[in-house]
Amino acid sequence: MAIRKLSESVINKIAAGEVIERPASVVKELLENSIDAGATQVEVTIEQGGIEMIRITDNGCGIAKEDLPLAVTSHATSKIVDADDLFKVGTFGFRGEALASITEISQAMIRSRTADSDCGYELLINGGHAEPIEPCGCPVGTTIEVRQLFYNTPVRQKFLRTPQTEKSHIAEAFARVALANPQVQMTLMNNQSTVHQLAATESWRERISAFYGPEIADNLIPVHSTEGEISLNGFVVDPSISRSNKRMQYLFLNRRYIRDHSLQHALSEAYRGLLMVGRYPLAFLRLDMPPNMVDVNVHPAKLEVRFQNGGQIYKQLLATIRTQFLSTDLTAKGQLSRRDGGQVAAEASTPHTADAVAVAASVVQDQIAFARPTSNVDWTAAPGSSGLPSSGSAESFRPFPPLPSGNVGGDGFSMPSSPDTTQTFAQESAPAPAPTQTRTALQVYNTYLISETAEGMVIIDQHALHERVIYEQLREKVLAGKLESQKLLVPEPVSLPPAEAAAVLEQAELLTQIGVTVEPFGGDTVLVSSYPAMLANHNPAEMLKSVIDKLMSEAKNLDRRDVLDELLHMISCKAAVKAGDKLSPEEITALLEHGDLCQDSHHCPHGRPTALTFSREELDKKFKRI
Ligand code: ADP
Ligand code: MG
Repeated sequence: MAIRKLSESVINKIAAGEVIERPASVVKELLENSIDAGATQVEVTIEQGGIEMIRITDNGCGIAKEDLPLAVTSHATSKIVDADDLFKVGTFGFRGEALASITEISQAMIRSRTADSDCGYELLINGGHAEPIEPCGCPVGTTIEVRQLFYNTPVRQKFLRTPQTEKSHIAEAFARVALANPQVQMTLMNNQSTVHQLAATESWRERISAFYGPEIADNLIPVHSTEGEISLNGFVVDPSISRSNKRMQYLFLNRRYIRDHSLQHALSEAYRGLLMVGRYPLAFLRLDMPPNMVDVNVHPAKLEVRFQNGGQIYKQLLATIRTQFLSTDLTAKGQLSRRDGGQVAAEASTPHTADAVAVAASVVQDQIAFARPTSNVDWTAAPGSSGLPSSGSAESFRPFPPLPSGNVGGDGFSMPSSPDTTQTFAQESAPAPAPTQTRTALQVYNTYLISETAEGMVIIDQHALHERVIYEQLREKVLAGKLESQKLLVPEPVSLPPAEAAAVLEQAELLTQIGVTVEPFGGDTVLVSSYPAMLANHNPAEMLKSVIDKLMSEAKNLDRRDVLDELLHMISCKAAVKAGDKLSPEEITALLEHGDLCQDSHHCPHGRPTALTFSREELDKKFKRI
């Protein structure tokens, strides 16, 4: 077949296929052009979800008469000159493709006037065929109207959804630009009704609030950090609010909305344990860095970018959010239901005081070691011994600390008379944490612990809190490469289905990190030669099998960090006291103390709350004292 050079029109249609997926893509491209043109006011009007008409008017710099034909020519741009400029792009656009593509597949009108021109000029262009340019009256700035999108590309037209769906995509495209540019006054109109009318503002919180209302605006937790030339600013949303998808994770790189799996992962990682499985955090984050540190020319709609040092940014994001969470009180506050008389409804709502848990990680690591030497539950005991390594080393489990005197009555329990009987258990050299709970509690149903703190009456789920404590302890140890592993005198062969055996051996190195050593033993049998000391009394084969479930079900989609963390969750869950276990007063005391020292003792690793707080005021109200 003969090779031919494609016509300009076909080239534009091909480009349109990549850049203009649906009406919302037009809105995105035109809005970005307006912002690039320095507009401070932009109005978007759509009809029928943009399928019928999209019009965008801005008060930007305008396009000169002689430039109008170039604006709609492919690969014509005012934004870069040579290839070097690609590495210092400061504008949204630079490829010079959008207007050429859009005007190729629609009936368009461009009206524009620059500040030094007496009148405006109008260019009509129908499926790529331009009419002669005519003068017209218009204010400085640009109006671009796009009608009948895809009218000459029937295949694309078929893929258009209902106006309602297209409208929601447009609203999202509008939100992305509006969130990134709070300094611009922006309006979105749909079929004559106002969808958004956003005043220009310096405050990002205000713009976020304009979109998502007080529920989210009141729960924004500010984050900020600068490392070298990379600065991170913005907000994460309190974990009491979450979504079933990641759509409300807004990440802006140099004001450009981007999607980045690695950074989304860092975000999930920061919220690990704070959200239920299948729920995702909300965030509004701005990354700013010199343009040469990132390649924005890797995706047709520039939605994805390639960072020069993605790893560093990942770490910065994760560390910044984690640090912020440590100084934020995320305890779920139980609220007495106002509606149904006396029934207790636990609703999560959280204040953002920075006064609560601020514990240096090193202190946490030392202090959360939590053992049950006289346990009626068997998780610490290594075979043939008490299970406790000699005390004193950093590795050792600490025995229960002595009970604070006066807190325990003859019946084994009494409430402290006031919250200031609380004590701190930090090492001398480290900053003292501020415990939020007293050291004793009443156990009910052998499942919950009820205690009094400065914030109110706290009801703790003993399993969830213990699970959290162990999880934190394990994580610290794994990160420090110090998890105790118990060598088996006689390695245990475990027969597995072939796929499972393969998965286990494939992940042998990962398993080593959690203290499980496996070796091939011929056929589909693997040999377990050591496993975590904390699980000493669990059957190695059984333990390995539950790990396999995690490896098989999630490893495909998750990276190492996820798998490791899942495994730690599983171990913590197995090792923790259960609902129904009777705890001695000493055990209760130790659990509460270690809970206080935990990085996040408010949620178990699965994200369920570990504790609910009912304020004195709420109780008083309920009993009609006030
Ligand atoms: P790019 O944005 O990649 O340069 P476009 O096809 O989107 O390519 O736009 C082509 C050119 O048209 C831009 O470089 C700019 O000079 C001009 N232009 C487009 N929209 C506007 C606008 N709203 N105001 C001023 N100039 C504009
Ligand atoms: Mg553009």
